[in-house]
Amino acid sequence: MDNGKQQVVLRCGVCGKEGLHELHYAGRLLASAKCKSCGTIMRHTPRELRRTYIKDLQDRVTTKPHRLMRRLIMEPSYLWKGLPAALRRQPKKFIDEAKELKNVEKLQDEE
Ligand SMILES: [Zn+2]
Repeated sequence: MDNGKQQVVLRCGVCGKEGLHELHYAGRLLASAKCKSCGTIMRHTPRELRRTYIKDLQDRVTTKPHRLMRRLIMEPSYLWKGLPAALRRQPKKFIDEAKELKNVEKLQDEE
């Protein structure tokens, strides 16, 4: 596993060049794409990312009780306070994704 990073050729919306972009993922979600030509980083805001992540999480655990999902939607911080028991079967995976989201937020806070 390549630590959530991947390189693809894309057309950059800023410099207009078609070239390598470094994609950074939080779980299955695209968190950012960095143009290797001009260095522009395009990404979701933490708020968007979290919302998308929770929606994605919801999609992944649709067989789980609705109560849990409603709680996550009403109170997204529940995700950080403690992993819902229903998700503990894959704790490392979810912890890694949560860390990845935290890293993205940290990077953005430093700007
Ligand atoms: Zn560029």
